[in-house]
Amino acid sequence: MAETRTVTQLFALDTLLTEEEIAIRDTVRKFTAARIRPHVAQWFDEAQIPVRELAKELSGLGVLGMHLEGYGCAGTSATAYGLACLELEAADSGIRSLVSVQGSLAMFAIHHWGSEEQKEHWLPRMAAGDAIGCFGLTESDFGSDPGGMRTRAVRDGDDWVLNGAKMWITNGSVADVAVVWANTDLEEGSRGIRGFVVPTDTPGFSAPEIKNKMSLRASVTSELVLEDVRLPASAMLPKAAGLRGPLSCLNEARFGIIFGAIGAARDCLETAVDYAQTRLVFDKPLAAYQLTQAKLADMALEVGKGHLLAYQLGRLKDAGEVEPAQVSLGKLNNCREAIKIARECRTILGANGITLEYPPIRHANNLESVLTYEGTAEVHQLQIGRALTGASAFR
Ligand SMILES: Cc1cc2nc3c(=O)[nH]c(=O)nc-3n(C[C@H](O)[C@H](O)[C@H](O)COP(=O)(O)OP(=O)(O)OC[C@H]3O[C@@H](n4cnc5c(N)ncnc54)[C@H](O)[C@@H]3O)c2cc1C
Repeated sequence: MAETRTVTQLFALDTLLTEEEIAIRDTVRKFTAARIRPHVAQWFDEAQIPVRELAKELSGLGVLGMHLEGYGCAGTSATAYGLACLELEAADSGIRSLVSVQGSLAMFAIHHWGSEEQKEHWLPRMAAGDAIGCFGLTESDFGSDPGGMRTRAVRDGDDWVLNGAKMWITNGSVADVAVVWANTDLEEGSRGIRGFVVPTDTPGFSAPEIKNKMSLRASVTSELVLEDVRLPASAMLPKAAGLRGPLSCLNEARFGIIFGAIGAARDCLETAVDYAQTRLVFDKPLAAYQLTQAKLADMALEVGKGHLLAYQLGRLKDAGEVEPAQVSLGKLNNCREAIKIARECRTILGANGITLEYPPIRHANNLESVLTYEGTAEVHQLQIGRALTGASAFR
């Protein structure tokens, strides 16, 4: 047998990273091997995840709000943050979702758009994993088009009073703080949208968990219900007006997904290569058949290209130059290829591939959500189409 190579080696991917980035990546990989991989199939099976305990451990690893500066955050490069997302999602998309929502959605919203008081109050605790955050933008009737949201914030003296409901909110039922987007002036349309920092013990706030998911089962997903939730004036994010606020946060989280999804794909491919080498069919290893090798070679190409795309976008982001349409390129490509790869790897595992003993079907099911949230594949096609043609085809 000839010597074997991984995709990382074939594409010489590590030559594109600094020593520090490789060290961070390897630390996260070791953490997932010790703390996530031994348990994640069971968490997925039982749809139970020890979020609080994990948040403390992920904080120890330094990945909560990892790319943010100050307030107890690690302040790493965007590329290093992406690599951490890649390794976390290679273990499970649910774990990466926990970290993305905490750091890129909830903490980023407060860090970028919040008052000094809001930052000092929430960010150090969130970086330490002592407070968990969620981000409420989507409503049951407004997902791809959040500008139509019906959640209202009405001024009452110095206070704001929020009424409405959010849907599909990651970490909702376990959160200590929710960043909630609400319309303050329906006549203004989406220009009236503002963000509010809502402690989840505020009277009138509740977050029932959504059950029976077939995807992201190792992740908490919830509804947020706001019934006359009264907040002081200081709860509003002072610097965010209109959709620009939430969209800036989504752009941050999408960046992590570009890396994460390709991590899930890599894990599936590694599993399929290992399996094919030991599984005997018609008296020889499955890996020795041309049909299998064609599948593996095509998948290796896409996994490698997905890494190159992610690294390129990481470098652009580190230079402060990445544009939303470029993030759409990465999110669309890497999620779409990852889900195809997960399903193809499942075929290589035959019947064994339909159980939780092997990760491909778990990744494939998780990637259904990853393809949909943070902008569906179609929404990213429309973003890219607009960039190419100048014509907006959203309506
Ligand atoms: C597990 C999970 C976790 C999530 N976590 C969060 C969270 O933490 N916070 C949050 O705010 N949201 C969250 N979401 C919500 C997610 O962002 C939305 O589901 C997503 O934006 C899509 O919205 P929708 O489900 O309403 O689909 P819809 O917008 O109804 O889309 C349905 C279909 O129509 C297509 N479509 C939409 N517009 C167009 C168009 N103009 N042209 C052609 N096709 C179109 C879509 O691509 C899709 O295929 C989560 C979702 C999931 C599944």
